[in-house]
Amino acid sequence: MKPVISIVIPAFNEKDCLSVIHQRLTETLSGISDTYEILFVDDGSTDGTFLEIRSLSEQDPHVRGLRFSRNFGHQAALTAGLEQARGEAVITMDADLQHPPELLPELIAKWKEGSEVVYTVREDTAGAGVQKTLTSSLFYWLINSLSPLRITPGAADFRLLDRKAVEALKRMPEKTRFFRGMVPWIGFKQHEVRFTAPERFAGETKYSFRKMLRFATHGILSQSAIPLRMATVMGAVVILIGIIYGGYVVWTFFTKPEGYQQGWASIVLFMLLIGGTQIFFMGIIGEYLARVFEEVKNRPLYLIAEETGGEEE
Ligand code: UDP
Ligand code: MG
Repeated sequence: MKPVISIVIPAFNEKDCLSVIHQRLTETLSGISDTYEILFVDDGSTDGTFLEIRSLSEQDPHVRGLRFSRNFGHQAALTAGLEQARGEAVITMDADLQHPPELLPELIAKWKEGSEVVYTVREDTAGAGVQKTLTSSLFYWLINSLSPLRITPGAADFRLLDRKAVEALKRMPEKTRFFRGMVPWIGFKQHEVRFTAPERFAGETKYSFRKMLRFATHGILSQSAIPLRMATVMGAVVILIGIIYGGYVVWTFFTKPEGYQQGWASIVLFMLLIGGTQIFFMGIIGEYLARVFEEVKNRPLYLIAEETGGEEE
């Protein structure tokens, strides 16, 4: 029988979290009459996460697992989960219990009331440092000013998607995946639920500062072409400054020829400024080109090495 609800959980070296999240999900979901499946996507873990998933799937027929052939990233794991999920509604959540399973009845209730996307927003994270809070607000401010989409600050990859929304996302073949931008893009009836994220249950964050920075640039560049247009605006500004300055030079040439003598410092300054601007925008063009390159290569987003559970289908 097809499950009504699928829970998709990407896990990268989360061995110590799995049995606890499984237990808490089972407690929560057994109170709901719908049939369900829990689909763990092991994103190339090296700590025996898949062994744990396999043993869970042997004890509990609700559990299925996929193992990637290597670490392909959180967004790729979410994609695999959406592609493999069989439910009428698919809920994605983290393995580290920062997305409380106790919120599921609320998400499911909103779905039953007719919402096709129920997304969650983190109010604040217990134990998150000033640095994470600050970089996170900077990121949402940047992405909202640089892209036409409206992404709610604190939007988490913890959401319920109706089958229609899942099918819509499956039609988006882009390699540069950023669900926080893709989900607002598809539209449908969306509903927001707020929650406070507790501290990670075990282990450490899998998003280092570098990974987060890459994720942020990725998010902005994959959703918007505005940075490219900024080059046009910047070019126009430089030309305008050139015309004004040119006028000033001609004017001083005729009015006070002795003032016409300009120092080399201003020349070097302008050369550096304009040269820097040019290289900066070449870099931005390069970033887009790299993404076009990824799309053109058209490689699969992930490779599955192994599966477990769900055989009774
Ligand atoms: N994750 C993943 N692949 C990665 C990095 C993270 O599948 O390359 C998973 C991780 O196991 C967790 C979720 O993505 O279930 C969110 O990661 P994490 O909790 O480390 O991020 P944070 O909550 O600190 O932003
Ligand atoms: Mg986390």
